[in-house]
Parts: sequence; C-alpha cells; structure tokens
Amino acid sequence: MFLLNKEKLIKYWKETKLIEDKRLIKAFRSILRENFVLPEYISEAYADYPLPIPGGQTISQPTTVMIMIEALELKETDKVLEIGAGSGWCAALIAYIVKKGFVYTVEIIEKLANFAKSNIKNTGLKNIKVIHGDGSCGYPKAAPYDKIIITAACPTIPQPLIAQLKEGGIIVAPVGGYYIQKMIKARKIKGKLIEENLGDFRFVPLKGVFGFHRN
Ligand code: SAM
Repeated sequence: MFLLNKEKLIKYWKETKLIEDKRLIKAFRSILRENFVLPEYISEAYADYPLPIPGGQTISQPTTVMIMIEALELKETDKVLEIGAGSGWCAALIAYIVKKGFVYTVEIIEKLANFAKSNIKNTGLKNIKVIHGDGSCGYPKAAPYDKIIITAACPTIPQPLIAQLKEGGIIVAPVGGYYIQKMIKARKIKGKLIEENLGDFRFVPLKGVFGFHRN
C-alpha cells in the first residue's frame, strides 16, 4: 500500500507541475523514506504529512521537502548546508543530487543527530556530514556554501547564515511567526538577500542563538 502512495505522490507532482526537476524525482525514488521514519510509522512513510521523530520533532511532509530542494536549484558540485538534520532524509536527498559536492547538516538535539547519522549510514552516501550543534549560527568551519536550507521556522534569516552563503548563492527557509511562516527563497546579490515568497508553510521552531528560544 505505501509503495502505491509513493507512486501517487510522484504522479501528483508531475500532474500539478509542482516538481519538475527529474533528478529530484529520481532521488525520491532512490532514497527510501521508510528508512528515515520510526518503525511504527513505516506504513505512513509516503503519506503527504509530517511524521513524529525522536525529541518531539518531525520529518517534514514529502511535498514540502521537494519544493524546498527544487528551490535550491542544485548543481552536482554544490556545497550545501542544512540546518535541522532531523531524520537525515532531506540531507540524503540533497546529497544524492550533489554527487560531486557535499552536504553538511547541523542538528541541535544530540539524539536526533545520532538518528540522522545512522539513517544516512544505511544509504551508503559518503558525501554528508552530520554535526551536533546550534545551526542557527551556521557551520563556519566549512563555509562558504553554494546553498543553504533551513528546515525549522526562523524569526528572520540568521545573519551568520547570510555571511556563510557565497555571493550568488541561494538560501531557502521558512521565515515569520512561531506558528505560520512564509517560505523564502533568497539569492545573495552584492552581499544582500533578494527574496521571493514561495507561500505559507508551518514548521517546528528554530532554537538556538538566532532562533525563537535557546533550547
Ligand atoms: N530536515 C529534517 C528531515 O529531513 O527529517 C526535518 C527537520 S525538522 C522539521 C526541524 C529540525 O530542526 C528538528 O530536528 C530540530 O531539532 C532542528 N533544529 C531546531 N533548531 C535547530 C538549531 N538551532 N540547529 C540545528 N537544528 C535545529
């Protein structure tokens, strides 16, 4: 049944033209979402809603993740920073596409950083590093990045992340209130972000120095 839902999702994205990047559909087929959810939710792995993961967090809805990744306009060689590793699924999809690039993903909850690490290990992908820490300050060690994706709601795009984005780079993030946000796709031009609004979304809050609360 859940494999049927997987094909239904792909059909829905194609018919609505919501997702047009064939590489993304290929990644979605190859990186099995059932390997990133808790055992009790495997039958719902391809339902189009978020699912609980440890630490009171969620693995985001498939359609939302696909929209965000497509907005990154990924190139095979991109160096990408993700804030909010969660299950590791989004990072794995990105790493599958940036075959000659690398993905750094930061997670503030240690238990989840370990969950993401073990899920990613099972994929065999070698171009991802999971870091336990406060991603609201970015990951300066590997900066600058071609692309940055924030998968938790932020009050504003954290300044350190703008600084760690390359000139011409793209950042995608849900920005706004605690309960509802606008999905912002922004390109860094002459040091400033030129923003586009992709619509309303709902995410769990970003924590840390530049989040809604410290922890
Ligand atoms: N990308 C994830 C996936 O594919 O499963 C889903 C992310 S979940 C919606 C948001 C994640 O952001 C949670 O795991 C949460 O712990 C994490 N988070 C919140 N604030 C953070 C911060 N300051 N630094 C790093 N991770 C943070």
